[in-house]
Amino acid sequence: MIPYENLKILNRPFEEKLKNKFSDFLEKGWYILGNEVAEFEKEFAAYHQEQYAVGVANGLDALILSLKCCGFKSGAQVIVPSNTYIATILAIIHCDLIPVLVEPDARTYNIDPLAIPAAITDRTVAVMVVHLYGQCCNMDPILKLAKIHQLKVIEDCAQAHGAKYKNKLAGTFGDFGAFSFYPTKNLGALGDAGAIICKSEEDQQRLRQLRNYGSEKKYHNGVIGYNSRLDELQAAFLRIKLPHLDEINTHKRKLASIYDRHLNDSFIKPKQEPGYANVYHIYNILHPERDRLKQYLSEHDITTEIHYPVAPHDQPALKDHLKNFGYPVSAHIHQHTLSLPCSFAHTEEQIHYIAGILNKF
Ligand SMILES: *Cc1c(COP(=O)(O)O)cnc(C)c1O
Repeated sequence: MIPYENLKILNRPFEEKLKNKFSDFLEKGWYILGNEVAEFEKEFAAYHQEQYAVGVANGLDALILSLKCCGFKSGAQVIVPSNTYIATILAIIHCDLIPVLVEPDARTYNIDPLAIPAAITDRTVAVMVVHLYGQCCNMDPILKLAKIHQLKVIEDCAQAHGAKYKNKLAGTFGDFGAFSFYPTKNLGALGDAGAIICKSEEDQQRLRQLRNYGSEKKYHNGVIGYNSRLDELQAAFLRIKLPHLDEINTHKRKLASIYDRHLNDSFIKPKQEPGYANVYHIYNILHPERDRLKQYLSEHDITTEIHYPVAPHDQPALKDHLKNFGYPVSAHIHQHTLSLPCSFAHTEEQIHYIAGILNKF
């Protein structure tokens, strides 16, 4: 039996350190916004060669607080890919802004820069890009458009910790880089956690206020804030795992290269283009008989996932919020995509075995 993911095995190499950290934590008795959060923020910023990182409660909040920090008027429009995880779109809706869906490039699954201009109106205020599956978006043309039209750029980096485009890390291109440390992400906590990378002292201060009831000084509230603090214990755990992020990504890349080399041409594999360093949060293939393939693998005790089974424009929750133009590129991806096991918890042998079974389909 090969599960899609196994968090117990994934975190086993860190077990000793995690246990010791928990003992220290218990000993210290400081649970909210302590030294661990402050140190993790410094280390996470330093990893990105940036000055500012602010820990928040989860990835959705990282997106919401980034938008809130911009102070957009309600009803303004935000461009977002039509094939993202629903969180990206929910963040826009929760800020009383209008999501405007733009189709992805069918080869990369990421927002198609050539399709963005047609979506820009005089009400557009931001582009929210998503570096899906661990591959960065084609950032140069996006940043150029943003500059011309004075749009803020917010990066959803929930699947792209350590991913690079032209040697620059995901999360460092736009005004804000929003991260999730949900346990299955490439850098995963042992619970919910998130962070935002930002570019100015002013934004940093505002984000710190927003995450903590709008207060800079205890019981003095300058803005309408939230309770979205990065948990002290999760920050402590993340400090143990951050130094191993590159090792985790290297392992996932090695597993991906096994699929790349061994899977036959009936499967459409992720595109590798020069200038992109993919971290394979998800190793996805496209197949015309996706559902039958998933069933076949399941009969061989191999668990797979679908990211995602229902496109945002088909979600009942979003029915009143999105203009449903059908979005054929996104619909095609949603109908044919299958995510194969490709975790830090998997071995090269397991991937060779899975590739062999796949080729017999
Ligand atoms: C996981 C994920 C999120 C949300 O992160 P949470 O920490 O679960 O809130 C947002 N966007 C994308 C693309 C994700 O994969």
